[in-house]
Amino acid sequence: MDKDKTIRANERAAAMPAADDARLRFIGVIRTPWQDRAQCPRQGVLDGPECRLVLDPVWQPALEGLQDYDLIEVLYWLDRSRRDLVTQSPRGDGKTLGTFALRSPVRPNPIGTSVVRLVAIEAAQVVVRGLDCLDGTPLLDIKPDRGSFTPKAPPKPGVS
Ligand code: SAM
Repeated sequence: MDKDKTIRANERAAAMPAADDARLRFIGVIRTPWQDRAQCPRQGVLDGPECRLVLDPVWQPALEGLQDYDLIEVLYWLDRSRRDLVTQSPRGDGKTLGTFALRSPVRPNPIGTSVVRLVAIEAAQVVVRGLDCLDGTPLLDIKPDRGSFTPKAPPKPGVS
């Protein structure tokens, strides 16, 4: 799919500075039911359809322990977005906001994040509900939801 280069009234594009090399590695691909943006939800819902995080098998050991979490955070690369808009009018209604005041996929580094419900882990594949990305979206990372993460309290003095 080509990146959408349309621009609406009041939207502004930046002259893009040279890219730094962040040396990102995609760890897999996301399989979802949505082939185009018209079908894709703007934000996922926890009772949405099952989607599959298909990891490169080298990352399978990195899933150890994830099964203990009900909610996990998924980070992905919204690869079909343009990246140069500094202001946007996402609804095309003349209301314009800065890119950093929006969760639009159009941003200089098109990282999407969703907190999703973990349904199952099958070898190097993770089944989840709650995503909002197109089929084939590259997968960047998986983390336990920060609300579910309870760091161990430091030991109290005199208590072993
Ligand atoms: N939940 C994420 C967030 O808040 O960071 C993404 C929200 S963004 C509004 C979701 C929209 O991005 C979808 O409705 C779709 O229009 C668009 N989108 C989904 N997958 C994409 C992809 N691979 N490339 C470009 N745009 C995508």
